[in-house]
Amino acid sequence: MPMPVRSLPTVQNWDCHTCGDCCRTYSVRVTAEEKERILKQGWMSAPELAGQEPLRLEKASGEYVLNHTAEGNCVFLGPDNLCRIHAKFGAAAKPFACRLYPFVMVPAGDHWKVSLRYACPSVADNLGRGCAAHAGELTALSGLVEADNPKAINMPPPELQRGQVVPWDDLNRFTKTFLRMVTNSTFPLEQRLRQIAWVADECRNARFDKVSGGRLDEFLRIVSGAAVEDTPADPAAVPRPGWVGRTLLRQQSGVYLRADHGPRAGVGRRGKWARFVAGIRFAVGVGTVPRLHEFLPQGVPFQAGEVPLGELPAAAGDLLTRYFAVKVESGQFFGPTNFHHRFWHGLESLLLVFPTLLWTARLMVAAGADKLTAVTKALRIVDESFGYNGMLDGGGLASPVRAMSQKGEIPRLIAWYGR
Ligand code: SF4
Repeated sequence: MPMPVRSLPTVQNWDCHTCGDCCRTYSVRVTAEEKERILKQGWMSAPELAGQEPLRLEKASGEYVLNHTAEGNCVFLGPDNLCRIHAKFGAAAKPFACRLYPFVMVPAGDHWKVSLRYACPSVADNLGRGCAAHAGELTALSGLVEADNPKAINMPPPELQRGQVVPWDDLNRFTKTFLRMVTNSTFPLEQRLRQIAWVADECRNARFDKVSGGRLDEFLRIVSGAAVEDTPADPAAVPRPGWVGRTLLRQQSGVYLRADHGPRAGVGRRGKWARFVAGIRFAVGVGTVPRLHEFLPQGVPFQAGEVPLGELPAAAGDLLTRYFAVKVESGQFFGPTNFHHRFWHGLESLLLVFPTLLWTARLMVAAGADKLTAVTKALRIVDESFGYNGMLDGGGLASPVRAMSQKGEIPRLIAWYGR
């Protein structure tokens, strides 16, 4: 009996609108069982595939992936943007990854929570039914997730920080407090995120061995109230981030934006040398921004990332609030769904998504995009990487996130790029 699925996002809608975006963007790995199943479906002789191999061995990983056409589509994507496996054999015959996307199953002790990937255009545009409508489907998939990840079953709570563990119920108290703060429309989102950074900073210095249950609720009520008092309302009153903070953020943005393969690949597809040169340019931050992703404009100077966007349209504010609410409520920012980051480190990596995506949106606006389109596209790129891009793993950016935190740069970067 699989663990139950609880805590579906309450603020987000989704249904597949058959845009086929995921079937063009991703290289879908298949398990040995899925490989056998697809081969038995007889696609080698099917006229729809016109002699193309259904699967391809990926040299780098040594794993089988769904083959793509010369145009970059999954070979099973039909001209009607529908999946041929699904049409011929039903949804259960598709690879598991295709069935789950854009949902993310987040292990939470004795149950699953659910998050979503904002790289999907229908998620970003909030199209479809409320997530609760997918509860039955997700419950059915949870057994498959568990078969693949037995360690997720009754997983112990990840650490808050090194050597500090609290029970799942207390971790949920933290996330509930941050969910309440991030959806509190009394304050602009930029200010709410700085308030959360303030609370996280206080909590990093606290011990929770004797503060648990109702006492933790009381502690969090007092600290979140103090965050409102102590966090400047005006972002201009927050000191400007230092050179180190802005350089680290720019380098982090380069990692988030980099697409080396697939239909959205940028200059990185040209090879290692092109990626090395782009990395140097992001570190130095002068001249024009290398086009690391198809969504990025051509020939925009780095300086454009320092020009304020001004007030965002209400729809962009709603999108970003939904995004942070879903990530916080689901817990997709720490533990196995974010490179096994500890709680506070994962929360800081999530907070840094805000300046990263707004820096990216500024480049697009400088090239003539309207603000809503720019914010939506920037979020789609950045969330494609969040929790999935191996370069954001511990060996890559764990220390820069910690360095930005230790230097007190996180609230400064939020305020600076939130202008
Ligand atoms: S198998 Fe079907 S759902 Fe999966 S990527 Fe290919 S076309 Fe899309």
